[in-house]
Amino acid sequence: MAHHFSNQEVAGKLREVAAAMEVRGDDGFRIRAYENAAVAVDNLSSEAFDLWEAKKLDEIPGVGANLAQHLDDLFRTGSVKHFTKVKKPLPAGMFALLDISGVGPKIAYTLSKQFGLTKSETAAVKLKKALESGKVADLEGFGEQSQERLLTAVTGFLKKKGPERLLLPVAEKVAEGILSYLSSCPEVIKASALGSLRRRVPTVGDVDIGVATNQAGAVVDFMKQYPAANRLVAAGEGLVRLELTNKLTVDVKLVNPTEWGSLLQHFTGSKNHNIVLRELALKQGKSLSEHGIKHEARSTKQEVRKYDNEEDFYKALGLTWIPPEMRENAGEIEVSEQRKLPQLVELKDIKGDLHTHTDYYWISSHDAGTDDISTLLETAKKLGYDYLALGDHNPSISSYNENKIISLIKERKEYIDKIISTRENKVKYSSIKVLNSLEVDIRPDGTLAIPEEALKYLDFAVVSIHSSFAMKKEEQTKRVLKSLFYAKVKILGHPTGRLINQREELDIDFNAVMAECLKRNIALEINAIPQRLDLPETLVRQAVKLGVKLAINTDAHSADQLEQMRYGVDVARRGWAKKQDIVNAWPWEEFQHWLTG
Ligand SMILES: [Zn+2]
Ligand SMILES: [Zn+2]
Repeated sequence: MAHHFSNQEVAGKLREVAAAMEVRGDDGFRIRAYENAAVAVDNLSSEAFDLWEAKKLDEIPGVGANLAQHLDDLFRTGSVKHFTKVKKPLPAGMFALLDISGVGPKIAYTLSKQFGLTKSETAAVKLKKALESGKVADLEGFGEQSQERLLTAVTGFLKKKGPERLLLPVAEKVAEGILSYLSSCPEVIKASALGSLRRRVPTVGDVDIGVATNQAGAVVDFMKQYPAANRLVAAGEGLVRLELTNKLTVDVKLVNPTEWGSLLQHFTGSKNHNIVLRELALKQGKSLSEHGIKHEARSTKQEVRKYDNEEDFYKALGLTWIPPEMRENAGEIEVSEQRKLPQLVELKDIKGDLHTHTDYYWISSHDAGTDDISTLLETAKKLGYDYLALGDHNPSISSYNENKIISLIKERKEYIDKIISTRENKVKYSSIKVLNSLEVDIRPDGTLAIPEEALKYLDFAVVSIHSSFAMKKEEQTKRVLKSLFYAKVKILGHPTGRLINQREELDIDFNAVMAECLKRNIALEINAIPQRLDLPETLVRQAVKLGVKLAINTDAHSADQLEQMRYGVDVARRGWAKKQDIVNAWPWEEFQHWLTG
């Protein structure tokens, strides 16, 4: 079996060898060869593993015959004898320290040797202890100052090190691969994603799959053959745990069809939802498990009642079925008890997209889209939309003066009008109303990046923050509030500015912003780009409670991205939004009334 290593892993191994050679005092030329190869592998546009399979390792710049031979060993056998030999005399813990900022090979070696850091798994934690006890300052060449600096670096490193959660579409793709594989197994009766993936959380930690079957053994054998599996970690009657070629661990949980509902409920979570559910059950003299519900918990004789569907499971507790997206202990159990669950918005309710980018030819303040108007319209038609807003970024204020910007926006309006009124397009897209919009930057002082006069050439504007993210709460709030005063502003784009795993939310007083939106009849956007999913669900819930309207937009920069709408709908559902809360789920007349009102 071939051993799959990602480019990152391969580069890491090359860097370890370079570090070991540096400690050994090898020739600088040879060390640099390894370092250069590591950089080259890091920057490859394809996978080194794939190149190896295609016998094209020599295409990687800086990888000569020798290194190609070593990488061949690596992919074929999982290790490289030469690498092992070079690293062996050195404490293994030192290699785990190389990613800490300010720690080079020699420092890593000295510290590992001094404090017995022989294991890579524990090296950083042990080093932190040594730093905290003040022992590092006493070492020759270190001192108080570098001890302090190292402690900060190690603490930051350990904090960051927790496994990064996957973005929803990435986890979804992994699950879809397995579910599609399972669908060809005759012994599988039902299969579904579980956990945070089923609850449509923006990021997913583990991918868990549930399977209903009467022949667990056969399904286990089937899963052992899964082509994208790198390694079988565990296999029993009830569980198969696989490590995939991308290093992700996947659990497939197997259950008899009679317990399907109990399994789904238990492993969908969330933990907090299930805790409250358990408390409710206890009050009713029942106890819950992944197998079902034991009535009269105190009597040991009572059998566990099994449930083949979730509806009956919830019903047995006096509840109506709760959509997975709502299971976060945000009051959903009480609402279900009172039979007052909201009718959540669905993808099929969406009637248009109000934030999209075309390839329009001016120099814009940020990335233009890659497709033209007709291509976007074609996809919108396929999606069955009744309306579509074209909302390019405003012209760049560093490239044009104010008068030029006004004439450019006027020109764009004429251009759009011309395109949509050609006889061909009038026939082809007769069912879609096209709106002429712009995504306008909110400048740091809260003014818009286009002259007010230009607003008259637009049907409406989306206003967004794309700069000065670090302003203090009071100023940032003032900035946003000011931008909402302008005529034609109908949507606040990606309101918190967050980028998942990359940028924190802006510091904004959303009570004030929502009050203003309510007053001015402005909608907050739920931006459906998987890295954004902005508004976050807690703010969606707050908006829904206050009656602030929302718009779910894809912010598509290409026609195919129009299909990411469902990720925004997921967030809306997690925030308890109904069709009535979402302006682009309204029929055209109602929507138009809101737009012009
Ligand atoms: Zn934007
Ligand atoms: Zn945008």
